[in-house]
Amino acid sequence: MTVYTVKNVASSAFLVTDEKGAMIVDTGVAGRAPAMLEQIADASLRPADIRLVVLTHHHADHSGSALDLREATGAPIAIHRDDADQLRRGGRVDLQPTSLLPRLMKAMLAKAEIPAIEPDIILDDEENLTRFGGIGRSFVTPGHTPGSVCILLPDNSILAGDALSGGLMRARIARKPMFATDLDAAVRSMRAVADHAPTAVYVGHGGPLAAPSVAALRTL
Ligand SMILES: [Zn+2]
Ligand SMILES: [Zn+2]
Repeated sequence: MTVYTVKNVASSAFLVTDEKGAMIVDTGVAGRAPAMLEQIADASLRPADIRLVVLTHHHADHSGSALDLREATGAPIAIHRDDADQLRRGGRVDLQPTSLLPRLMKAMLAKAEIPAIEPDIILDDEENLTRFGGIGRSFVTPGHTPGSVCILLPDNSILAGDALSGGLMRARIARKPMFATDLDAAVRSMRAVADHAPTAVYVGHGGPLAAPSVAALRTL
């Protein structure tokens, strides 16, 4: 199994492959489909080999290129039920900053509009993604948004979306998410990620997170 990171300044998207297939986890901001398709080609795959697109949550920096990638690959889009309505509505969302820096960034970030997307698959709190042609298991980690999910891969690494964040200066040090609709829930979710003792944690911003900094979250 291999995890490829398709990074840009705003956020990361991921291509996960194994011998049976491939899935995309998060899609970046709008206009990032060509970069993902290039990564798919570099991994010696065709767009049609992608069997699932999972959105860790509805935010525009993760869902921005989902429609383009669904069209290019034919793969269905999956999101947790508690983020599905916001994805269907699209538009702007209110971001609640958890510290000073995100408060300053909010003005810029809040301008991004989520494209209105009808998801094809609604995820429950725990799902075996192989049911949908994906890889690994998803589990709900609310707090950043009500329906944020993480994905536990077969090698015990975790794709965490924005449930955790890398530092801006020290990208590999695990931090709380920059924004949270429910900070207490977000802290519980960070602990849940740490409790898996993951070998690596891939996040939407910064990362991949160093295992010791993730382990330290267990005592939060
Ligand atoms: Zn987010
Ligand atoms: Zn994000």
